Amino acid sequence: MQLKSLVLSGFKSFADKTEINFSDGLTGIVGPNGSGKSNITEAIRWAMGEQSAKSLRGERMPDIIFAGTDLRPQLNRAEVTLNFDNSDQYLPQEPANVMITRRLFRNGDSEFYLNQKSCRLKDIVNLFMDSGLGRESFSIISQGRVEAIFNSKPEDRRNIIEEAAGVLKYKQQKKKAQSE
Ligand code: ATP
Ligand code: MG
Repeated sequence: MQLKSLVLSGFKSFADKTEINFSDGLTGIVGPNGSGKSNITEAIRWAMGEQSAKSLRGERMPDIIFAGTDLRPQLNRAEVTLNFDNSDQYLPQEPANVMITRRLFRNGDSEFYLNQKSCRLKDIVNLFMDSGLGRESFSIISQGRVEAIFNSKPEDRRNIIEEAAGVLKYKQQKKKAQSE
């Protein structure tokens, strides 16, 4: 599976609709401090279901919406779309092109779409949970995260390793079944 493109609008510093295409191989994103490199990785994590505003360097989730500048008013909506090439069926039961969209309004309303069909946050989280690409996985390591992983409590570290190993989904299903 490969992330083919990312489309952002109203997400943090990306006020205008911005499309970033990723070609085969390794992609490096370079730019001066504060130019939005980390915002790009945060947009990917957010679209994949990140639920912690703090881990996106905000206080509340609407902090990810373009907040305005001296020259430009704030926006009321942030939207991020990820397009994946799933022709290797890395996500089984999904089509060859998987598209996910997350949208958030300043009043707190949010919308999720999987392949252009409205869905729940849970559907997005489940989709990636055992793919090794989930929001807690090793595939996106933010600044400071390496230390955080090694300084975390053993239980938390275990969760990270379990997600990477692909057993977290079954543990959560077991917990749910036991509580029913
Ligand atoms: P560094 O090289 O220092 O890591 P970077 O390229 O990773 O920098 P980011 O942290 O992605 O930069 O971008 C920070 C910029 O995003 C800041 O200028 C900040 O003002 C802007 N920003 C963050 N949230 C918002 C928002 N909600 N609305 C508008 N701009 C925002
Ligand atoms: Mg950065």
